[in-house]
Amino acid sequence: MHPQHTILLVDDSPENLQILNEVLKDSYRIKVATSGERALALAGGDEPPDLILLDVMMPGMDGYEVCSRLKNDPKTHAIPVLFVSSRDEEEDEERGLALGAIDYIVKPVRPSIVRARVRNHIELKRSRDLLGRLTTLDHLTGIGNRRRYDEYLETEWRRAAREQAPIALIAIDIDHFKAYNDHYGHPRGDQCLAVVAQALAATVTRPSDLVARCGGEEFGCILPGTDIAGALHIAEEMLRNVVGLNLEHARSPTRPCVSISLGVAALVPKADEPPGALPELADAALYQAKADGRCRCVTKQR
Ligand code: GH3
Ligand code: MG
Ligand code: MG
Repeated sequence: MHPQHTILLVDDSPENLQILNEVLKDSYRIKVATSGERALALAGGDEPPDLILLDVMMPGMDGYEVCSRLKNDPKTHAIPVLFVSSRDEEEDEERGLALGAIDYIVKPVRPSIVRARVRNHIELKRSRDLLGRLTTLDHLTGIGNRRRYDEYLETEWRRAAREQAPIALIAIDIDHFKAYNDHYGHPRGDQCLAVVAQALAATVTRPSDLVARCGGEEFGCILPGTDIAGALHIAEEMLRNVVGLNLEHARSPTRPCVSISLGVAALVPKADEPPGALPELADAALYQAKADGRCRCVTKQR
């Protein structure tokens, strides 16, 4: 079995770490921390573990404190925590579970029990992650779907409001796509959507930029921390990249290949303003781009 999943072992005793490491090292990638502070740093880092085995009694920050901090941080709250403790009184177990731990193992550990429980929890985590990805993915194009788009806009809009920073949105619509479907057939239309989606997604580079399929032949791009000039720059590159695919479109009155129209908007959210203000503005810009002759970018600001 390839160790694709990572387990973080947290214990102040190197001996205990050694025991757990021996039991699990052949099946998982193992990281260790000998203090609560170190555990929080590793869990909140760039490569979060899939499961944390957490000792209760540690000098300084104890396991309960570590657990409650993990569960209160949106970055780490989804990582399952399994307490490993020699304090086997019922109320300790209750306290651990109440803090959001998924399970409780009593020391001294029995290797077969640890292996079995860890395997079950890793399997659950894997299914949950997969489900999470599926429910936010558009199956036709492989990019984010409407749900992902709405959730991301909501989150980033709130952040922009807090930081009084700009946030930009590009509304994108394929030109004369009904005619494309009518002429080339629905399966070719689907292929076209997937290729255009990939070209759009490949244009953005920052990890915080999101391209999603909003529905039909419409896409949206959310650019946190970006002003109108930066967003227009991205939109123009998207247009170049899609036209550059040179997908034949014999029925388009605009040009002989598949093209897109783009509406670009950027805002610094006002206090208590709903996120809908941004797509509204971008849609108005897109409408203008269609009316002005398609295959172009139009910007709108307040
Ligand atoms: P415009 O340039 O004004 O945007 O014209 P249009 O024909 O692209 O716009 P319209 O909204 O009239 O038509 C959109 C078409 O997109 C309708 C439908 O045939 C096609 N479409 C929507 N969803 C899908 C899909 O999932 N697969 C395929 N193949 N076609 C789709
Ligand atoms: Mg269209
Ligand atoms: Mg449309």
